[in-house]
Amino acid sequence: MKGRTNKFRKFFVLLLAAAVAVCSLTGCGKSDWRSREVTVIDDNYRTWYEIFVYSFCDSDGDQVGDLQGVISKLDYIADMGFNGIWLMPIMPSPSYHKYDVKDYQEIEAEYGSMADFEELVAECDKRGIKLIIDLVLNHTSSEHPWFVEACSYLESLEAGEEPSAEECPYYEYYHFVKGNPGSNTWYQVGSTDYYYEGVFWSGMPDVNFESQALRKEFEGIVDFWLAKGVGGFRLDAVKEFYSGAAGKNVEVLTWLNDYVKAAAPDAYMVGEAWDGLGVYAQYYASGIDSFFDFEFAGPTGVVTKTLTFSGETNSAQAYAKALTRVQKSIREYREDAIDAPFFVNHDMARAAGYMQYDERKVKMAAPLNILMSGSAFVYYGEEIGMTGSGKDENKRAPMYWSSDPQDKGMTRGPLDMEPQENQFDCAQKQMKAKDSIYSFYKDTILLRNQNPEIARGTVARLEEITDQDIAAISKTYDGKTIYLLYNISETEEKQVEMPAATYGELEIAGYLSVDGGKVTMKDGVVTLPSYSVVVLR
Ligand code: CA
Repeated sequence: MKGRTNKFRKFFVLLLAAAVAVCSLTGCGKSDWRSREVTVIDDNYRTWYEIFVYSFCDSDGDQVGDLQGVISKLDYIADMGFNGIWLMPIMPSPSYHKYDVKDYQEIEAEYGSMADFEELVAECDKRGIKLIIDLVLNHTSSEHPWFVEACSYLESLEAGEEPSAEECPYYEYYHFVKGNPGSNTWYQVGSTDYYYEGVFWSGMPDVNFESQALRKEFEGIVDFWLAKGVGGFRLDAVKEFYSGAAGKNVEVLTWLNDYVKAAAPDAYMVGEAWDGLGVYAQYYASGIDSFFDFEFAGPTGVVTKTLTFSGETNSAQAYAKALTRVQKSIREYREDAIDAPFFVNHDMARAAGYMQYDERKVKMAAPLNILMSGSAFVYYGEEIGMTGSGKDENKRAPMYWSSDPQDKGMTRGPLDMEPQENQFDCAQKQMKAKDSIYSFYKDTILLRNQNPEIARGTVARLEEITDQDIAAISKTYDGKTIYLLYNISETEEKQVEMPAATYGELEIAGYLSVDGGKVTMKDGVVTLPSYSVVVLR
């Protein structure tokens, strides 16, 4: 047996040597931008993968995703080029989505154990992946012991007896009032005359940030998770801490950010202030690193408009202008603001539907999002163009690893989900195809990782070049400037002059091309096929 193995080994070494020789003669391999070195900078300008654990990957055969399932897919995630993971809530909760927490210092039983979580953190560390978790502070579950105790305390009061936080500290953790406020966001406590606020629904009582005791509880919770090794937090529903009062919300976030950064200066914080740019930009005053860039996301955001709406206001020109507009707005509040571009999250219909399942557009949307400056987020399954719209459950469908729902790792998805029929191949198949959506996403992230200026650079629009079809921008970081050209014409090849006298001697650092055609550069003229993006440096 040993002799035979050696023979085979010799044969493969010869074969490999021959392949290397052929490649160096023909120039394959080295001439491909994909073989360039990746410059990983260990900071908070990352490429993040958002995971809904429930629907991601099952490890124990109950068809509910779990932390061991996530661990089993870390190589898939790292291989795609992601170096950050955002886990949607993992704490015990009565709901399938777990945005109503009943214990902030435990792992949801169906997801696994605290030991599994510790293993996940360690496995992420090994791969250079920063792990952040969803922190839902705006409300708790109505099953949280704080709320349960506060309600039973109120129910125990004698007629005419006033409640006191000294008798029951949890009374002041929530918004309780005596008498019916007559609004549909207030709910009765049992059969008492007391009511509590629940902006989202009765099962999610809003907490009261006026309570210093409550803030202390949250500080303890933050300490707990930082000690477990999390790299930061995604902050849910920050606009609703005090609904309609941005200034007060910024105060809460300032307190939280200061607390976290004092304990862990490198921690990354990203907040969800679901609103227009004019609103979410203000929240940067809190010092929180990032807020999700709703301007570019969703079915009516800049990316979808650029690719699917007609008219001058929805052109390459408008796309390039939007990039600088967002940058300017958020930097007004903080010079070191990190934009958090994303296309879709768990509350939005999946993006393939915005593009009417036009594969070319689904692909082209990837660089329009992922090559943006800041920390870019990709929702699981977007990299294979998954389907899902309508009710929330449909937007959180099982990760489509395999076309066989009984295959290892497959989950069943939320119980109230309507059957989902994916229009594009499963991950297993797409991973083997060089021209798949998956491969396009992977190339896009690789291009981002190879050129640190893409995530970290200050953007300027090249007014002399940008037009209806070509978005031309520069990105400057650490004294270096690179150029990005996007051809968003659906049908036409374009030529762009980039004379050395103006831009210096440039070379193609890498490119993406939806149909597989090459981007070339000769005598200062760049030729871009329809739906392509090039990086020049
Ligand atoms: Ca499971």
